[in-house]
Amino acid sequence: MLLHIGIDDTDSPNGMCTTYLGALLYRELSRIAEPVDLPRLIRLNPNVPYKTRGNGAVAMTFEADEEVIPEIKNTVLFYVNQLADFTHENTNPGVVFFEGEIPEELREFSLKALREHVTIEEAEKVARTVGAEFFKFKLGRGIIGSLGAIGYPLKRFTYELLAYRERENWGTPRRVDEESVFLADKWSYPFTYDNVDPYKRTVLITPHGKDPVLVGIRGIDRGKVLQTFEMIKFEEPVAFYQLYKTNQNTDDHLTPKKIGELKTYDSAVVRGRVARPYWERGRHVFFELEDETGKIRVAAFEPTKKFRNWVRKLLPGDEIIAAGGVKEHEGILTLNLEKFYPVKLVPQIEYRKPKCPKCGGTMKSKGDYLKCKRCGYKMPKKLIPVEVPRELERKIYEVPPDARKHLSRPLVLPGGEERILEALEVLK
Ligand code: ATP
Repeated sequence: MLLHIGIDDTDSPNGMCTTYLGALLYRELSRIAEPVDLPRLIRLNPNVPYKTRGNGAVAMTFEADEEVIPEIKNTVLFYVNQLADFTHENTNPGVVFFEGEIPEELREFSLKALREHVTIEEAEKVARTVGAEFFKFKLGRGIIGSLGAIGYPLKRFTYELLAYRERENWGTPRRVDEESVFLADKWSYPFTYDNVDPYKRTVLITPHGKDPVLVGIRGIDRGKVLQTFEMIKFEEPVAFYQLYKTNQNTDDHLTPKKIGELKTYDSAVVRGRVARPYWERGRHVFFELEDETGKIRVAAFEPTKKFRNWVRKLLPGDEIIAAGGVKEHEGILTLNLEKFYPVKLVPQIEYRKPKCPKCGGTMKSKGDYLKCKRCGYKMPKKLIPVEVPRELERKIYEVPPDARKHLSRPLVLPGGEERILEALEVLK
């Protein structure tokens, strides 16, 4: 009998991590049932407000004898009871069990949880319809992620190896030899990626919170991920590690939409024209994008750093494809930009002063007149339009690694451009 297990919302900013719980369970349950593939780390809608960090849920599937199923379920519920951080208001664990082949309805629910906002009631309704068993702790919001993770059609996937810390080290600075991370990255990039930020010379594999994760190594090649882990020198003990299959860096969250269809918490790709010159507030850069169905404010927020320079080069009339998450910012529906692709750029015209028609000297503006600096010749101010090259290219621009959403596919990976190019076809 196939038994699928989904777990979510066990952690808080004060500690714990659902993947840690999942990894412990996967090891424990593998003794009494046969695991079908690796455990899965499924990222759902990155725009929902309840998430602790990256809106990740965990699922795993076992081929289990009928008689051990009650023991498996009890073990899962026991671990969640023991390890979830129940003290935090925003931690509302949910556990889901499902037996048999995944029905279409569950697949559809997963994709909805990935791309839109869903309610606990919706999750319960789907669970009842398909015959999934669910357990809610406190509000039990975690059943959304648990159900979503179980039903997720993981057609495209990457890997993440998560190594965990000994309990006595939780909450202290992580001790990992930085140089060894740079060396390992040099060897395996881009088969593993996001290990370091080469420009800032910082290590990205170590999180900074109180959670039990020591490092997370991401990649598209399972062997290279494991070898990269082997190459890193740890200056504190590694309690244990687990390789996960994941929908991270697949761009699965991006769906082509018309601007008029966008609503809060959607993740989408749209095509439109820049409606007016960009503007800045704080260190955030904004512009407006419109298509025949509506208009939306688009933002490149401060953490996207140099990416903002490319956004500043957009001109009214430019036609672009923009991908990102929709949120309300200062009460206004805003597309939080992850990637953009210039489809058609308007010519950029600069108005320049002519040379002096008498002596070829440089002219100076004097109110309505131009006056030659050399010979003093005066003439009415008539400027010459000159087309200057646009600095934007026909390529996809993406935010830097530390501002990238877990689901967003880096351009360096095969298929990194796929979703945008697909949108180019769909949103003609
Ligand atoms: P971590 O990344 O460390 O695992 P997290 O960011 O995953 O933490 P959670 O604690 O899992 O944060 O909280 C996310 C909550 O949002 C869960 O309760 C989950 O069920 C719920 N959720 C997931 N997807 C959606 C969705 N599309 N709509 C509404 N709620 C959702």
